[in-house]
Amino acid sequence: MKLEILVLGSGREVGRAAIAIKRNSDQQYLLFDYGINFDLEDKPVLPLPISPNKIRALFISHAHLDHIGAAPLFYISSHPSIYSTLLTALLSKIMISDMLRLSGYYLPFEYLELDTMINSIKTLSYGAQIEIDDKIVNVFSAGHIPGSAMYRVEFRDGTSVIYTGDVNTIDTRIVKGATLNGLEADVLVMESTYGLYNHPIRERVEESFIETVKSVVEDGGIALVPAFSLGRAQEILALLADRMPHANVYYDGMSREILELFLQFKEYINNYQLLEKAAKLFTPVKGSDMRKQICKEGGSVIVSPAGMLKGGPAQYYVKRLYNDSKNAIILVSYQAPSTPGRRLLTDGVLDDSGTRVKAKVYWFDFSSHAGSNNLVELAKSVRNLKKVILIHGSEDAAFTLGYRIKEAAGADFEVPKTGDSIIIEV
Ligand SMILES: [Zn+2]
Ligand SMILES: [Zn+2]
Repeated sequence: MKLEILVLGSGREVGRAAIAIKRNSDQQYLLFDYGINFDLEDKPVLPLPISPNKIRALFISHAHLDHIGAAPLFYISSHPSIYSTLLTALLSKIMISDMLRLSGYYLPFEYLELDTMINSIKTLSYGAQIEIDDKIVNVFSAGHIPGSAMYRVEFRDGTSVIYTGDVNTIDTRIVKGATLNGLEADVLVMESTYGLYNHPIRERVEESFIETVKSVVEDGGIALVPAFSLGRAQEILALLADRMPHANVYYDGMSREILELFLQFKEYINNYQLLEKAAKLFTPVKGSDMRKQICKEGGSVIVSPAGMLKGGPAQYYVKRLYNDSKNAIILVSYQAPSTPGRRLLTDGVLDDSGTRVKAKVYWFDFSSHAGSNNLVELAKSVRNLKKVILIHGSEDAAFTLGYRIKEAAGADFEVPKTGDSIIIEV
């Protein structure tokens, strides 16, 4: 059988995931994700276009904008079938609404299309199996953020493909690591964000993060932890609830709403008690008066989006906290080039004016993507694997990972560019 994989986004680039898969002889594709990226001027970059009538069904892996952000486009004039977990559906509504609020001017769809899309979603749980014509689709946890899913498609002749979306294989406080153990697939379409890099051991990262926060708080300073509102903020709050339950911790922005939502989905959370404890012990920031007030208090922790200091209340806090050496700005996610977070880390400056930051600056690796060794192991654990298609990573990362997988698992690999269509004979 001939399989066609059409890469509409995330070919040799991180994000903008959009992968269409079909049997060569079929008319319509199964589309996995349709995400958005933002360029240096913060303008949205969409995946390559595809006509909605070429899509048999759309499967969403998780609610980060680089996987879901452009999907409402299909609901302007048509209603393709769309599937995700229930938590991903609810999170998508929050995430895309926020994007429309901030960048709506540049986007080719509005709230109406978002609503139509969300209302069209048929929800699937982990372990679910559905039939689309003569194909069977199975759903598994991807271990990346709560609600994140991987999909396995099996065609009538037994040929099968797994799409990982973003994946993590280690347990974190909010999600259990993913596994593909025992699953069979001819083709694995896998992310390669960290194809070049292994993360340090998580326990050690947590240990030094906690030590750092404690020393700032004990010194009477404020520890600002800029954290992405979906996933990372809740992971940090759960860690703080575990290790510093008596600390004075505030959390701000969309992380509040998302924490509330996570608490309604116990089945998706690894350590639910910790998340509950965090919600009980720590204080959500409500309104600008409170924001102003807590900047005057010493000995506390503020967890707030945005993770790279691009927008969100974190930007407000940085401007008020940067000039005191007792305070600290503790970054906990990847800092993309040209973001204020990256500039702060590399040059120690607040903004373009070059204002020096007196507060201490730290960075900790709390990634929710599997590292290089873990990705090799994941591919190795798939039975009868013939081919790996590496996407959602730089060219360097994807090729390096490909060679490693070839050596360790014996499977061939390809690193397509966005726009490529790969035909695989299986
Ligand atoms: Zn992604
Ligand atoms: Zn993601």
